[in-house]
Amino acid sequence: MSRPASKPLPEFAFSAAPRAGILLPRPLKGTYDYKLPIGVDAPRGTLVAAPLGTTEVLGTVWSDAEGGVGDNRLKEAVPLDGQPRLPPQLCDFIDWVAHYTLNAPGAILAMALRSRSAFDPELPRIAYVRGSETPKRLTDARARVLQLMSDGLARPKAAIAEEANVSPAVVSGLIEARALQETSLPEFPPFEPPDPDFARPALNPAQAEAAALLKRDVAARLFSVALLDGVTGSGKTETYFEAIAEALRIGRQALILLPEIALSVQFLDRFAERFGARPAEWHSDVSQKERKRVYRAVMRGEARVVVGARSALFLPFPELGLIVVDEEHEQAYKQEDGAIYHARDMAVVRARIEGCTAVLASATPSLETWVNATSGRYAHLKLPERHGPASLPEIRLIDMRQARAEPGSWLTQPLRDALVASLEGGEQAMLFLNRRGYAPLTLCEACGHKLTCRNCSAWLVEHRYRRRLICHHCGFESATPRACPECGAEGTLVACGPGVERVAEEFARVCPRARVAIASSDTMGGPAEAQAAISAMARGEIDVMIGTQIMAKGHHFPQLTLVGVVDADLGGSDGDLRARERTFQLLHQVSGRAGRAEKPGLVLMQTRNPDDIVMKALASGDRDAFYMRERMYRETAHAPPFGRLAALILSGSDGDKVRATARELARIAPKAKDVTVWGPTAAFYSLLRGQTRERLLVQAGRNVDMQGYLRAWKDAAKIPGGVRLTVDVDPVSFF
Ligand code: ADP
Ligand code: ZN
Repeated sequence: MSRPASKPLPEFAFSAAPRAGILLPRPLKGTYDYKLPIGVDAPRGTLVAAPLGTTEVLGTVWSDAEGGVGDNRLKEAVPLDGQPRLPPQLCDFIDWVAHYTLNAPGAILAMALRSRSAFDPELPRIAYVRGSETPKRLTDARARVLQLMSDGLARPKAAIAEEANVSPAVVSGLIEARALQETSLPEFPPFEPPDPDFARPALNPAQAEAAALLKRDVAARLFSVALLDGVTGSGKTETYFEAIAEALRIGRQALILLPEIALSVQFLDRFAERFGARPAEWHSDVSQKERKRVYRAVMRGEARVVVGARSALFLPFPELGLIVVDEEHEQAYKQEDGAIYHARDMAVVRARIEGCTAVLASATPSLETWVNATSGRYAHLKLPERHGPASLPEIRLIDMRQARAEPGSWLTQPLRDALVASLEGGEQAMLFLNRRGYAPLTLCEACGHKLTCRNCSAWLVEHRYRRRLICHHCGFESATPRACPECGAEGTLVACGPGVERVAEEFARVCPRARVAIASSDTMGGPAEAQAAISAMARGEIDVMIGTQIMAKGHHFPQLTLVGVVDADLGGSDGDLRARERTFQLLHQVSGRAGRAEKPGLVLMQTRNPDDIVMKALASGDRDAFYMRERMYRETAHAPPFGRLAALILSGSDGDKVRATARELARIAPKAKDVTVWGPTAAFYSLLRGQTRERLLVQAGRNVDMQGYLRAWKDAAKIPGGVRLTVDVDPVSFF
């Protein structure tokens, strides 16, 4: 057919509207086809407003359209104006995490689009500068304002009133008199850029060597992973700060991941002392508004360093040059609900996709990381000694089978003597017991009935200060009953075993005049109160801190010389794969609180198993002997990292239905070489928050495609309504 001779039609009239596969931040199967406005260039990562049902959602251009639907039936997605797109590396990372954890990519995208308002248009703030007029009537207050504003800076009205110490009416008067003139400020104050050379410390030789290697890696702009393996107080933080400085120098961004609990004011202050500016923060306590500020600034490359909890891993850094995972062994890095993932492992993946360096720091690395470092897959940087005069504390075991405490008592004589001696010498002590409340179990002496939660198969824990029995899993509470709910006998309920409150009660009998603080997540009203207790301890206003693991992490108390571990065997009996490792890490960490300054530290651990390998390794200080043994156990058992594990958890309120579904799921498990399926069995807490839970465990060889296996299985499974299937790849908790 010949073209008409007259004016040609414009080009676009011939072409159909462009299309794209759009990923929506919802747990849907895949992408959806949309058409795009004609003439727009919308590469992967472009943010769009996409109509969905009767609403409009934020989506992301993800892939080519699948086709198959006519143009007239496709809805149009419109790119957001003036927004940077999600960096392509982040899109690749989202796909990778979704594949690995068997989640829908949209569910992972939702984590990366946490701050929905970050994409709203900016709202400038009204501010004022000095205007052209000078008022005739110049009161003192007015003069103060004009003096303040003579520096030329734009300020909002409230800020002027506050800084000049005048009432808002005074400011209004000056605006009316045109002595102040309206202007606008960006919605958010900008982030000060950290200065890599603000206050460089003099590193000791071991630190300097490790820092040099990290700097070389960062400067190379290639993927690399290093384990920064240093005893507590050796200066791991100072050392990785040098790597951050290098990332800043070469114009790349840096991310420091910390367990939520370690995200303290102390850490931020320390960062500011080194770099002259505070980092951006990202964790659960950050307000919606601040999240919006941080997210935008990260996406635009204006925030150069972010310190955050695990979810910061999904921020849209356009030019990431370094990820630090501090306390890399912490279980807090495992996200246990929603999309289940391990932030430490995913940090390494993101570093690989970004082509940047990952630094994993710990005094007690996870066995997985230790194996990777000792086998040469990761660089192994060691800081074997504490910085300066401080030395590592001496650790002694107290055999509780010999040094019996009297009934109803948990502090043996040697520990009591040491506490008294420490206080008489004007030093501080810490008693550690990883158990909140007064007693973990309440039992009827008459009939043997144990008080349990009505929603969970767990004991109720007595909290004597609050006079409540509390379930630590679902939060169910009740008053302590007078009579046994089972047999009705009165006065027969007895508290069994110690919690921190009970240890504090006993300690008060031993040292009635000592100033004591109980530190556990429920006795502290919140982060501010915990912070106040930490400061009081650091100032020497507390003699003895009796606490759970919230006191075990990272804090630096120079006068603290004695640590007493009330029950070192707690946690060893969980029987799961990592129980020994966790006990070792926690007790090592607690011990590290003692003797951090000039005075030497002493740690006394009460145990019924002094011959256990965990106890022996702690007492002898031979950490690597413990790791070597643990590695051997894991290798023999084909456990991670020498084999793969995945858990399938079925849950629901109808127990019979859950159990039947679990049996059926086990029956249809695909047969594959080198794969064993265990279960189903009732989960450790077979009832949790009113949900019955059944578990299946898949154990596979290292070279098995675990994701492929699980996906085939999942696709074949029919899960009835009211039952939920959760897949946990590389489980760390077996509850
Ligand atoms: P880690 O992270 O290994 O536990 P830190 O980095 O917290 O150790 O260091 C422990 C203490 O020693 C801190 O108070 C820190 O400021 C100090 N410190 C470490 N290295 C140096 C150094 N090179 N110069 C001055 N102080 C240092
Ligand atoms: Zn409960």
